Amino acid sequence: MSFGMSDAALPREADLIVVGGGLAGYCAALEAAETGASVLLLEREHKIGGATILSGGSFAFAGTELQRRLGIEDSPQLLFDDLRRVGGYENDAALVQVYVDLQLDTYAWLAERGVRFEQVFVASGQSVPRGHSRNPLQVLSVIAARAHETGRVQTRLSARALRLIRSGADGEIEGVNARTASGVEQVRARHGVVLTTGGFSRNEMLLTLFAPGQAGAQRMGGPGNTGDGLLMAWREGAAFRDMAYIKGTFGSHVSAGAEDHFLLFPMYAGGIVVNAEARRFVDESLSYKLIGDACLRQTDCRGYQIFDQAIFERGRPGIPSMDFAADLAAGRVITAPTLDELAQRLGLDPPQLAATVAEYNCFVASGRDPAFGRDGLCNHYGALVRIETAPFYAFVSTSVVLATYCGLSVDASARVQDVFGAPIERLFAAGGVMGGFHGKAYMTGTANGKAAIFGRVAARAALAS
Ligand SMILES: Cc1cc2nc3c(=O)[nH]c(=O)nc-3n(C[C@H](O)[C@H](O)[C@H](O)COP(=O)(O)OP(=O)(O)OC[C@H]3O[C@@H](n4cnc5c(N)ncnc54)[C@H](O)[C@@H]3O)c2cc1C
Repeated sequence: MSFGMSDAALPREADLIVVGGGLAGYCAALEAAETGASVLLLEREHKIGGATILSGGSFAFAGTELQRRLGIEDSPQLLFDDLRRVGGYENDAALVQVYVDLQLDTYAWLAERGVRFEQVFVASGQSVPRGHSRNPLQVLSVIAARAHETGRVQTRLSARALRLIRSGADGEIEGVNARTASGVEQVRARHGVVLTTGGFSRNEMLLTLFAPGQAGAQRMGGPGNTGDGLLMAWREGAAFRDMAYIKGTFGSHVSAGAEDHFLLFPMYAGGIVVNAEARRFVDESLSYKLIGDACLRQTDCRGYQIFDQAIFERGRPGIPSMDFAADLAAGRVITAPTLDELAQRLGLDPPQLAATVAEYNCFVASGRDPAFGRDGLCNHYGALVRIETAPFYAFVSTSVVLATYCGLSVDASARVQDVFGAPIERLFAAGGVMGGFHGKAYMTGTANGKAAIFGRVAARAALAS
């Protein structure tokens, strides 16, 4: 994706400054530009994309025409109830309501600009299939292209915002200082600054501070997800939300390095998860965040996802986290003709793995899992299946902090609030840098959804200020 330039000097002023070139940033930029505003978008890396382009590309929308076509009954009210429940009622009901109220409008807004979803599947935290998926690189490319076509959005690459400029200790935010190839430059924003810098999964200092329990989890995320927006706003007195709930995502292959993205969820298609002692340790239908925490308490922080041929065939080619065949071809899914041989290949105790699978199959047959209470494939949805059809498969997984799902306290207009609950005038935040929306856990598709929805909200609120 080649949007933006890195060598030109920054303009001295724009109607709106957007800091961060991921989905939230470009949705904010496009929304603002379509109302006639000039936008300067700063991106610290040499290309745009952030965590957005690494994502599974799933967006949580409820009550869409695509769901109806596929015979899926869903509604905004069910989405609201699911979101509150998944968040343990610790999420801000006002922010959840904004998402619910604007999600169908944003679905249509995306479609009108060329982002059309073709598949829907059930994923973590959803009580019906509502993960609308699309290649995230395509999504961002389309929105960024539309933004640039307006002629009112300028993107500057390798331009890292360093500090907010403020008129006095409690005054309005007037712009930013940014480091570019030319040095440190100042830009003024007539209507404010929207922070869309994403999370901080690449900042060890912040992770140690806020999530010491995740020390055993892998790290990934956009290279620029270093928490700059959080730090800039913190310096101005911003409050934070949901910092206590940072969790890893279970399902990352143990071989993944900081630049890799090997997430796979056969457990949500019917597989089970066992530890190095070949025993189950969790209800596999829970949010992958909760499974992640349980996994970090196991030997070597490992969970072995075990599944069979029938479950393998439920894979979704093209959907990164459900494309079992692609991971088999890449050598990350291990297969063997018998459970016994699979256990040997994994270094697990064969009789114990056989006993665990046999016991689980009995639970499925009886309709009751007294060990962990699993009652569905994913979040109570979908009938459980026995693991009995050769060949058998395994995906050796651990937990990965790939997004932080917490951050700046914002109100329903995406205005950043200070530690006393007062808005920091003309400072807005959207997407991965904002907190308060998810609460204790996370429903798949709501991080991308939140980026698009609140990016638009922030732009509108800023231009109205
Ligand atoms: C592997 C993976 C899979 C995921 N799957 C899903 C999924 O299927 N569904 C879902 O809803 N969510 C998913 N997520 C989470 C989701 O992708 C993110 O929450 C979302 O993309 C955040 O968008 P954003 O625009 O806020 O941030 P980002 O896309 O991270 O963009 C932020 C941008 O800001 C830039 N930046 C940072 N600091 C500065 C600075 N000082 N100056 C200028 N620029 C700066 C960064 O370089 C980056 O480009 C996934 C995340 C990962 C990593």
